[in-house]
Amino acid sequence: MSHPIRPGATLGLLGGGQLGRMFTLAARNLGFRVHAMDPGHDCPAGQVADFEVRAHYNDIYAAQALARGVDVMTVEFENIPSSTLEAVAELRPMHPSAFVIHTVQHRLREKRFLAENGFPVTPFREINTEADLRKSAEALGLPSVLKTASFGYDGKGQQKLDPTTDLGVAFRALGGQQGILEAWVPFDLECSVICARSSNGDSTVWPVAENAHVRHILDTTVLPARIASEVAATAQSMALHIAETLGVIGILTVEFFLKPGGDLVVNELAPRPHNSGHATIDACITSQFEQQVRAVCGLPLGDTALLKPAAMANLLGELWPKDGEPLWENLLAFPDVKLHLYGKTEARTGRKMGHLTAMADSPEEALEKVLRARSALRSKSVS
Ligand code: AMP
Repeated sequence: MSHPIRPGATLGLLGGGQLGRMFTLAARNLGFRVHAMDPGHDCPAGQVADFEVRAHYNDIYAAQALARGVDVMTVEFENIPSSTLEAVAELRPMHPSAFVIHTVQHRLREKRFLAENGFPVTPFREINTEADLRKSAEALGLPSVLKTASFGYDGKGQQKLDPTTDLGVAFRALGGQQGILEAWVPFDLECSVICARSSNGDSTVWPVAENAHVRHILDTTVLPARIASEVAATAQSMALHIAETLGVIGILTVEFFLKPGGDLVVNELAPRPHNSGHATIDACITSQFEQQVRAVCGLPLGDTALLKPAAMANLLGELWPKDGEPLWENLLAFPDVKLHLYGKTEARTGRKMGHLTAMADSPEEALEKVLRARSALRSKSVS
């Protein structure tokens, strides 16, 4: 086992969005330096990092130059070419590994890995031609969900097919990309489990998060999920088992569907902190971002205990009035609601601009409080 990387060292980050920003803030709290690479200018992580490199993720030379100046490399998202990840790994420890990222950045590879290792997934088929789609729709039944195999998130590249759908049109909407057809999962709720594995062998898991989506984008998360304790324990142990089987060092998020009757189905994996774990910053002893720092550095992991039931609400671009700002004073008048903004200047519909976290004596109260606070951002009168 290699030596831990200690505070004072420099961490390299591929990706400079909000996840990278919150990772960087946690790293700086622990006394690390952070160098971040992102194709955009003035990216959320770059604003708080020690050093920002502006380069595309396929720019191997820029990624290697970044790696030479740091002690360990990590990522804030999974859509980074394998060639870049492998080139970086030649120079510095890279967590999670290129293999992990390669597996989860493609829905077919990810689902095959899960199915081959006995984890529950919905039946799926590989789609390369219109004939594949017709045969697969017949086999899996309708409704079903057609997704691009790569570069899908927040429902992008995704279509629900029903008996009225023109399958030719649906196939052409893939735009020449490989697809995956998934059998529809009738679920009671969606939840996720975030866990961490350190290169020193430690592993930890947070309480299950209960997630509600609006137009395929996460809207709110409640911690802990309002589900039976045996189901929660099964979800947590399955997430840890997946992380171990895949060999993740760092953070792994496992998204689940919970079916009527209590069966869990894995929807997808993310080898990094996740939007459904943002409440861990304010509501847990150790946040998912601090844990990513500890894990990739081979340090002991922090306690994941939840201090109090909590709820998180996303702030999307549509909350911003045209040519203006939400009513921040109304929000800040809620003395126990925490505001996190990501430093993005352009508010677009569906763009994640920030989030709010509230804690209370019950998950219901926390959710009610965070929603009240969010709606105050738009209304002239504060309730
Ligand atoms: P994904 O990008 O795969 O996480 O999908 C985004 C959202 O679409 C999920 O959070 C679900 O709400 C819904 N969804 C995706 N796949 C399925 C499925 N096979 N069955 C039912 N709902 C799905």
